[in-house]
Amino acid sequence: MAAICVYCSSSESIDAAYRELAAAVGVRLAADGHSLISGGGRVSMMGDVARAARAGGAHTTGVIPEHLMPLEVADTDADDLVVVATMRDRKREMDDRADAFIALPGGLGTLEELFEVWTSASLGMHEKPVLVLDPDGFYAPLWEYLDALRGKGFVRTLALEMLRRVETVDEAFDLLAILLD
Ligand code: AMP
Repeated sequence: MAAICVYCSSSESIDAAYRELAAAVGVRLAADGHSLISGGGRVSMMGDVARAARAGGAHTTGVIPEHLMPLEVADTDADDLVVVATMRDRKREMDDRADAFIALPGGLGTLEELFEVWTSASLGMHEKPVLVLDPDGFYAPLWEYLDALRGKGFVRTLALEMLRRVETVDEAFDLLAILLD
């Protein structure tokens, strides 16, 4: 039983399949007895994962900067809604409270969060698993780019191996069960 931080989109203009993916993550997270750490918004995938996790009985913690509360519609149904001053405080709180991280498809915010937690893992600052759940090749161009950087010597193979890319919700949680054992 672990605290799983999920990074995902807050955009309302995305394909419904991504929202269903977020909900499926919430369902499995709860079924496995985990708790959720999220960005504390109700919008788009962020809201979907939190609602599904709660519906399955999971404890949910949302961490939201005060100035984003109206924009991202603070998830006031969260078991714990942690209101912080800045984005940096949000990431620190989310990262400190989590035992593992799953990034779903997302935009700039998701990428920023993913890169920070992955970079710090690659520098040995923590040993928490970092997974990317990519059911449809959303992240394939990023992987190609990272692999090119590895080929040119800018990124270590070991760093790339620390970022685990999986295709299904079941694969993600089965892998977490092994890594968190
Ligand atoms: P996006 O992937 O751009 O839809 O954003 C997903 C979430 O990441 C949203 O809740 C954003 O507010 C959040 N976000 C954006 N930038 C940052 C940042 N620098 N630190 C932490 N969270 C961020």
